[in-house]
Amino acid sequence: MKKLIKKLLLSFIPLSLFSFTPINSALVDLKDTERLIEIVLEGASRTMGKYADAKKVQWDWCEDTYYDSSQNLICLEKKFMSELSEIGDAAVAFVVAHEYAHHVQYAQYQLISKARNNTMRIELQADCFAGIILASIPTISFGPDDVEAMLKTAFIVGDQDYDSEYHHGPGENRALALRSGLRFGGSKGKNKDAYYKMFCLGN
Ligand SMILES: [Zn+2]
Repeated sequence: MKKLIKKLLLSFIPLSLFSFTPINSALVDLKDTERLIEIVLEGASRTMGKYADAKKVQWDWCEDTYYDSSQNLICLEKKFMSELSEIGDAAVAFVVAHEYAHHVQYAQYQLISKARNNTMRIELQADCFAGIILASIPTISFGPDDVEAMLKTAFIVGDQDYDSEYHHGPGENRALALRSGLRFGGSKGKNKDAYYKMFCLGN
């Protein structure tokens, strides 16, 4: 599987072809999504979370999607999650792993200061960490469509508010950060691509 992931990640998906189709979330049964969220969080806590000495994390449905470090809580917005589940399970898994990555950053607080408390650096590092987490969880395996769904999702959640202090990074950088993490995790830390230092280390 590692070899496969590596091979898949060598080709970059033409992300601009993707379009996002919102659906009526009120009608969607999110039971499977809830199960998936729990699998990702459980796997994340057993892999990177264990390594980072992170406390147990809680999650809940909220008005918005974010990580609350004061409560060790991952908040997920139902409508957003059901839209993501339309793209695929991998899209949901990516966003959940991204929020868990913030939990790791706070558990190892020097990561936040190393990223110079800069929102964009912190966010791109979380995208990379999400890739490492997802490639490291032994109970999760993914194929080409899943990788494509993850990269597309990372691309769409990018923004172009370059001058805002809340700028999370443009879509292309977010996808590259995630891809770098997937490569790093999929190779058990052997494959550090050109973006690894910049995005994963927050340098
Ligand atoms: Zn984030």
